[in-house]
Amino acid sequence: MTHKVNFGDELVSPEEKTRRVSAVFSSVARRYDIMNDLMSGGMHRLWKDRFAARVKPRAGEDILDMAGGTGDVAFRMARRGARVTVADINADMLQVGEERARHRGIAGLTWKVENAEALTFRDATFDGYTIVFGIRNVTDIRSALHEAHRVLKRGGRFYCMEFSSSDWPGFSNLYETYASSIIPRIGKAVAHDEESYRYLVESIRRFPRPEAFKRMIAEAGLVRAAAEPMLGGLVTIHSGWKI
Ligand code: SAM
Repeated sequence: MTHKVNFGDELVSPEEKTRRVSAVFSSVARRYDIMNDLMSGGMHRLWKDRFAARVKPRAGEDILDMAGGTGDVAFRMARRGARVTVADINADMLQVGEERARHRGIAGLTWKVENAEALTFRDATFDGYTIVFGIRNVTDIRSALHEAHRVLKRGGRFYCMEFSSSDWPGFSNLYETYASSIIPRIGKAVAHDEESYRYLVESIRRFPRPEAFKRMIAEAGLVRAAAEPMLGGLVTIHSGWKI
């Protein structure tokens, strides 16, 4: 029997999942930023600010922002003086990001199409590896974590921010209703794409809870793995170090 993985709630082959995830982001690329504001009520900006503050990028550091999409996190880190490589499997997302960087006058970023599961960078290239709202879309998460470990220098830091289901009793019910019925409707009205937003909600529901993901980070060889859950684990900042 061929190995199957989840694409949202559906079981598909790993190749099919990678292809469909790519189609989702090509479809949403042009409306991605406005949809983030609408779906989170602007909160994603605060989460990303907090994330960049945790990473503490410094001038002269090389940071890989994996699954960097349209550059939101990379811009925040570049403003702090780091040299940032924005890598993503989807060229359409990167293209929107490059246009945004040009409009905002943010220079010095490198944009590169890369699959997080099999990076083309040499061992020990980066001082920091970041991945925000990206890893739950990756087909083989364990391979991506091993690649993160490989491309980090000794002493390099890994930071990941991801959604999962919340365990706050009242809030989690409220969120479930919002996510399953309202987000796909906003997707339909604004991005003309209900299915992609249904996938995004389902992928959040399926992502491991913070403690389980923390164990996966440790298994990839990153030490002092830590998780900082917000909103009862709906959004968590994960970190680890390479020694
Ligand atoms: N980090 C950005 C942000 O927070 O605004 C973009 C997040 S977006 C929800 C997820 C991104 O993950 C998409 O741009 C998608 O193309 C990318 N992605 C999915 N699978 C990937 C993979 N295997 N390798 C690299 N990027 C991937």
